[in-house]
Amino acid sequence: MGIFAKIKKAWFDTIVWETIDDEFYDELEDSLIMADLGATVAHDAVKKLRDVVYQKSIQRGDDVKQALRDILIEKLNVGDTALDLSTKPSVVLVIGVNGVGKTTSIGKIAHRLKGEGKRVLLCAADTFRAAAADQLVLCDTAGRLHNKVNLMNELSKLRKIIDRETPDAAKETLLVLDATTGQNGLQQAKVFRETAGLTGIILTKLDGTAKGGICVAIAQELGVPVKYVGLGEGIDDLQPFNAEEYVKALI
Ligand code: GDP
Ligand code: MG
Repeated sequence: MGIFAKIKKAWFDTIVWETIDDEFYDELEDSLIMADLGATVAHDAVKKLRDVVYQKSIQRGDDVKQALRDILIEKLNVGDTALDLSTKPSVVLVIGVNGVGKTTSIGKIAHRLKGEGKRVLLCAADTFRAAAADQLVLCDTAGRLHNKVNLMNELSKLRKIIDRETPDAAKETLLVLDATTGQNGLQQAKVFRETAGLTGIILTKLDGTAKGGICVAIAQELGVPVKYVGLGEGIDDLQPFNAEEYVKALI
C-alpha cells in the first residue's frame, strides 16, 4: 500500500468510468466537490477532462481515469516540494492557528531529518536568538490569530530577528493546515499567505475524516506547494508530499 492508503476513496465509488456522457461528467464534478477540491477547481478539472477525452478520442474507462489523474497532478505542481536546507544553519519557521498540528509536525520532521543524519534544533519562536547555532533550526510559533494586524506584527518582528541573527541562512516558512477543516482552512491560509510569505504547506490529519482533495484546492487557490502531509499521530506518520502517489490514492 502507498503512503496515502488512509485517504478515503469512497467519493468515486459510484462513478462508472466506461460511460462517458454528460451525466458522467456531472457526477464526476459532484464527486470531486465532495472530495474537497472545491467547486472552482472541480469544475475546471472536469472541463479540462472533457477537452482531453475529445481531443485524444479516449474511450476506455481506465484511460479516462488516468487523464483525470494527469490533470490533477499538473494542478499540484506549483513549486518545489523539498525543503531548502542548503545552508548551515537553515531555518524553518512553522506557523498556523492553534491545534492544527504545528508542534506534532515539527517533532515528526525533526525525527525524519535526524534519521538522515542532520543536526536539528527545535525552538519556540521567541527563543530563536538563543537557538540559532550551526544546526538546522525548526521554529515553532504560538498559534494565536487574534486579528490580521496582530499576526502581521508578530510575524514581521520574528522575521526581523531571524534575518538579523542568520542573514545567510536558507529559510522556509511553512503553514500548517488541518485537512479536516476543508475549504475553511483555505480562507485561513489566504490571510497567512498575505502576511507571512509562505514557501510551503504542511497538511495534517489526512487520516481520519479528511477528504483528501483539499491538496489540489490548496495548490490551485494559493499557488503554494504542499511539502509534507500528516497521516496520523505517531512520530513516523508524516510523509514528504508526492503528487503522483497522492492522486493515485485519491482516484
Ligand atoms: P499545534 O497547536 O498547532 O501545535 O497542534 P499540536 O501539534 O499540539 O496538535 C494538536 C492535536 O492534533 C494533537 O492531538 C495531535 O496529536 C493531533 N495531530 C497532529 N497531526 C496529526 C495528524 O496528522 N493526524 C492526526 N490524526 N492527528 C494529528
Ligand atoms: Mg503547539
